[in-house]
Amino acid sequence: MRYIDEFRDGALALTMRDAIARAVEPDRDYRFMEFCGGHTHAISRYGIADLLPPQIRLIHGPGCPVCVLPIGRIDQAIRAALDHGVVLASYGDTLRVPASDRLTLLRAKAIGADVRMVYSPLDAVRLAQASPGREVVFLAIGFETTTAPSAAAIAHAHAAGLGNYSVLADHVLTPPAMHAILTAEEAVPLDGFIGPAHVSTVIGSAPYEPFALAYGKPVVIAGFEPLDVMKAIEMLVRQANEGRAEVENEFTRAVTRDGNPKAKALMDEVFTVRESFEWRGLGTLPHSALRLRDEYAGYDAERRFDLPYVPVPDHPACECAAILRGQKHPEECRIFATACTPDSPVGSCMVSAEGACAAHFSYGRFRHRGPAGPSRLEPVEVTS
Ligand code: SF4
Repeated sequence: MRYIDEFRDGALALTMRDAIARAVEPDRDYRFMEFCGGHTHAISRYGIADLLPPQIRLIHGPGCPVCVLPIGRIDQAIRAALDHGVVLASYGDTLRVPASDRLTLLRAKAIGADVRMVYSPLDAVRLAQASPGREVVFLAIGFETTTAPSAAAIAHAHAAGLGNYSVLADHVLTPPAMHAILTAEEAVPLDGFIGPAHVSTVIGSAPYEPFALAYGKPVVIAGFEPLDVMKAIEMLVRQANEGRAEVENEFTRAVTRDGNPKAKALMDEVFTVRESFEWRGLGTLPHSALRLRDEYAGYDAERRFDLPYVPVPDHPACECAAILRGQKHPEECRIFATACTPDSPVGSCMVSAEGACAAHFSYGRFRHRGPAGPSRLEPVEVTS
């Protein structure tokens, strides 16, 4: 398939492996963060880290949308479904994120909540149109990539005069999260970012320019295929070697400097920036997420059903917060692959295929660490 097969070519991957090895300076280290969960998944799936010279370390970032959603936001959706009797619709992964009281949205469904999996916000609008006697709430999560379809669905519902559709808007913004990573008290030292693919198709490459200018951190926007990621790593190595800090675009087949003006205008029409928002792992960040504009307040489920946000701490054994800040690796969580697995996730990083823990577990990368690695044999009791 065009634009897929040629970016998964094994022979080319080996050529690029050799090019990266030649570009690396032997007596220095390179620490690059892949911001996006899609890249984390590709790196694990295709074994990209195994192809790199030992001087290069890839660090997972906070770009998996399901992972950064704090427990309190899932609790809000469960309260809407259980206490207010709404039909709660969301993406499949979101329904499996652990919440308070050992619940997930799927477990809430098992005790009587009306929870539906949808593939898009427009599916939820159609659900509302087909159920005139019911309130339908769409739990809208994700970065700028999924914000545009959420905005389109709200504008569509508004134009259709649909009165029984509303949204729990938990959309978050990429640049404030990158800022938080770089300015955290115990910020992990980085030599550059592999910039998001899908997000950048919407916002363009321009929003990353301040990171190159103000923090001296190169950003190379990369597609999700393995050769995209390897090319981006080579570009980052060259910037580091030459002491440059620029925004470069490897994903030129989809990303421009200005992004998608139509999608940005639609997002801006429907959403405005929240004063602050709590992220799992990054804490409460100012101006880092979106809410519905007052003109669309009727579609804001938080206001419509009076659902205040209540923060809830993570499970004490879970290291998702440190993993999302790039400070720990999945294997450093003592319940990784024992009490916490994709079939029975304890933390959000084990839920989605884009989560660092799920990616490591699913592609078995941790098994290659051998006897020196942490034991996977001792089960750990999990209580909450
Ligand atoms: S293994 Fe599970 S509990 Fe541990 S950090 Fe990953 S998701 Fe959280």
